[in-house]
Amino acid sequence: MTDRDLSQLAFDQKHLWHPYTNVTKPGPTFLVKESEGLFITLDDGTRLIDAMSSWWCMMHGHRNPAITRAIHDQLDRLPHVMFGGLTHDPAVDLGRKLLEITPASLTRIFYCDSGSVSVEVAMKMAVQYQHAVGFPGRSKFATIRSGYHGDTWKAMSVCDPDTGMHHLFQGALSVQHFVSRPPVTIGQDWDEDPARNGLGELRAVFEAHAGEIAAFILEPVVQGTGGMYFYHPDYLNGARALCDEFGILLIFDEIATGFGRTGELFATDFCAVEPDIICLGKGLTGGHISFACTMTNDRVAEGVGGGNPGIFMHGPTYMANPLACAAAQASLDLLTGQDWRGTVAGIAAQMEQELAPARALPNVRDVRVLGAIGVIEMNHRVSADEAHARAREMGVFLRPFGNNIYCMPPFVTDPDSLGRITAGMLRLAREL
Ligand SMILES: *Cc1c(COP(=O)(O)O)cnc(C)c1O
Repeated sequence: MTDRDLSQLAFDQKHLWHPYTNVTKPGPTFLVKESEGLFITLDDGTRLIDAMSSWWCMMHGHRNPAITRAIHDQLDRLPHVMFGGLTHDPAVDLGRKLLEITPASLTRIFYCDSGSVSVEVAMKMAVQYQHAVGFPGRSKFATIRSGYHGDTWKAMSVCDPDTGMHHLFQGALSVQHFVSRPPVTIGQDWDEDPARNGLGELRAVFEAHAGEIAAFILEPVVQGTGGMYFYHPDYLNGARALCDEFGILLIFDEIATGFGRTGELFATDFCAVEPDIICLGKGLTGGHISFACTMTNDRVAEGVGGGNPGIFMHGPTYMANPLACAAAQASLDLLTGQDWRGTVAGIAAQMEQELAPARALPNVRDVRVLGAIGVIEMNHRVSADEAHARAREMGVFLRPFGNNIYCMPPFVTDPDSLGRITAGMLRLAREL
């Protein structure tokens, strides 16, 4: 039999790599034919509710008409043009919109292709800034454990050193400074004692290594892939003060938390501080096309611009792709044109109620909800492939990782569908 005769799935299993999988021993994979709203339709007609928002980005549902229309219209005018020496309405209009909704001090926007790249860009900006203002030795980064910032080299270097597989790439990864994840959770009262709130440890690292640290990078309030952990926003206030004291830049990676997912428009809105650099991605285009951006303040922009060589050393081929800009603008209009806060609060309240029974199950360590993020943390690893198959029987697409059975439903999820998602999660928690 030649490869031409293989079924679609057989060809896929033989030749295509999937995210974080064994290419020679692939797990169960379903062939998707189309998607609409909450549903992914498989080739046999099975319809599954996408409880993951397709890796947390499809927040207005699949094939959202406003977003697909924006892409169609843009496709007929200008699908792409290089951004060197040229600009276009979609880039400018999206920029205006982003400035409206993000912290006021973030005034400069760098458009790029994916979240990982936006993190690379943020880290390069920080290093170039420190170089420009007279600290060429400041080229490393500090971060908190259990973080996740993407799969490219520099982003990977600030992912959790244990789950981020540093041992595998040892020698090839830059060594960074890690502190414990903030110990006070978002539900607890803030503890002012630096010995107990994590800020004492951060100060100690800054005191010992400030001369070599360009920036402190972290996911504000919600750590996603690194463990679905929600910590107290006051940690960020303390971190901001320490960064200012030691001349270290503060980078918020809001790729997972941005655009209402946590119940605030951005997780930085939980606290009074603004970062020097922010990374946005995932939900930026409502999940319809790959896109991300890195935004910074005048201080960093003027530092980089005033240094030598002055130019910022990055420029992707598809920078500010007009299709992606148009999709992002449509997605942001959808978001800000609705009562997103009420919607997310409704999803949170229902998840709180429906996931609560999991607390009584023998292998459950914790149940937590923040905004439209629901997590059942088990005290053992959960097989994603097993979960995948069982959730499918329940008409839901769920893909746990590590110990966490979790969902990030699209904001358009109706109560009945959300009920099916939480029922699916409870079943997995009982059976796996
Ligand atoms: C997903 C994610 C990234 C990486 O984004 P990609 O688009 O997958 O490259 C970076 N940081 C955080 C917090 C993420 O959740």
